[in-house]
Amino acid sequence: MTPHPNALEIADLVMHFGPVRAVDGVSLTIPRGRVTALVGESGSGKSTVGRCVVRLVEPTAGTVRIAGTDVTHLSRRRLRPHRGAVSIVFQDPAASLDPRMLVGEIVAEPLRLAGKRISRRERDARVAPQLERVGLRAEVARRYPHELSGGQRQRVSIARALISEPMLLIADEPTSALDVSVQASVLNLLADLQRDIGFACLFITHDLSAVEYLADDIAVMYLGQLVETGSRERIFARPAHPYTQALLSAAPVADPVRQRHRQPVLLGDDLPSALDPPSGCRFRTRCPLAFDRCATEVPEQTMIGDGMAACHLVQSDGTGPDVRTADPS
Ligand code: SF4
Ligand code: MG
Repeated sequence: MTPHPNALEIADLVMHFGPVRAVDGVSLTIPRGRVTALVGESGSGKSTVGRCVVRLVEPTAGTVRIAGTDVTHLSRRRLRPHRGAVSIVFQDPAASLDPRMLVGEIVAEPLRLAGKRISRRERDARVAPQLERVGLRAEVARRYPHELSGGQRQRVSIARALISEPMLLIADEPTSALDVSVQASVLNLLADLQRDIGFACLFITHDLSAVEYLADDIAVMYLGQLVETGSRERIFARPAHPYTQALLSAAPVADPVRQRHRQPVLLGDDLPSALDPPSGCRFRTRCPLAFDRCATEVPEQTMIGDGMAACHLVQSDGTGPDVRTADPS
C-alpha cells in the first residue's frame, strides 16, 4: 500500500471556547515532508489549531486527518497507535518539561506513552543518539531540566518530540521564549533536522522573518481564519492580502537596499476581540484599503496558484493593490 501523500489535512476546523471564536473555519493541508508556517499575531488562534491537531483539545467542528486517518474524535485508546506519528514542541521548555524527571526519562517518555516496555539500558541506548542529534552530550541524560539553559532545554524538547520518529512535528513558537542570542541556533537546528529526517512540520510563529529559511509554504491567520496561503516564494515576492503585506512590511529583510526602501505599514489598533469579530472582512477595522463592501460582505477566497487570498480587492490572477505602495489618501 502506498502511504497517504498528506501528513496533515485539516478541514473546516472550528474551535469555540464558550463565546470565544478562537478558530473559525480553517482548512489546511501539509504534504509529507513539507513545512508550512502558520503565521499570525498572538490571539489569532494559531496555537489552538496546533492543539487540535495533537488532540490536546477536541474541536467544536471540522476534521483532522493524520496520513489520511480521521483522528478528530478517536478515543484515547484508539488514538494510541497514531500518537507517535505526531509530536509537538511547545513555546516554553521551562513549562513543558517535568522538573522532577531526569532528561533521559523526559526524552524517552513518548516511547513509554506509546506502550513500549523497554529496559533502562535500552532506554539509555535510545536516548543518547537523540541528544547528540540535537547537539547535546549524552551525559545530559542524567541531569534535571533546571540544570540546563533555556536553549538546552528546548533542545531536550526537540529530542523528546523526535524520538518516536514522527511523520509530523508541530512546533508552536519554539524559539520565542528563548534568549534572542540562542533563537537562531535553535531555529537552524530545527531546519537541519527537518532536512535530514524529512518530517512534515506545522511551524507556528508570529514572526514572518523566521520562516524565510524554514518554510515551504505559508498560511497567514487573522482572528481565527486563514486570510492567505501559498508557497513561501510567492508570498514573499507577491503577497496578495493587505494583512500579509503589512506583516511583511514590518519584518526585517536581509537585503540592505530593500530594507532602505521600505516603509512599515502600521496597523494601528490591536487585534479585535474573538468574542465579537468585525462583520464582513474581519481585517477591515485595521485595513488601510477598507471600503464599504468590506463591512457587509465576507470576502471569498480567490485562488492564487496552489493557494488563496481572501480579500475583495484580489483579482483572479492574484494581483491587486499593495498597501506598501498605496497612496495614503
Ligand atoms: Fe481590506 Fe476589504 Fe480586503 Fe478586507 S476585504 S483585506 S478590509 S480591502
Ligand atoms: Mg500562541
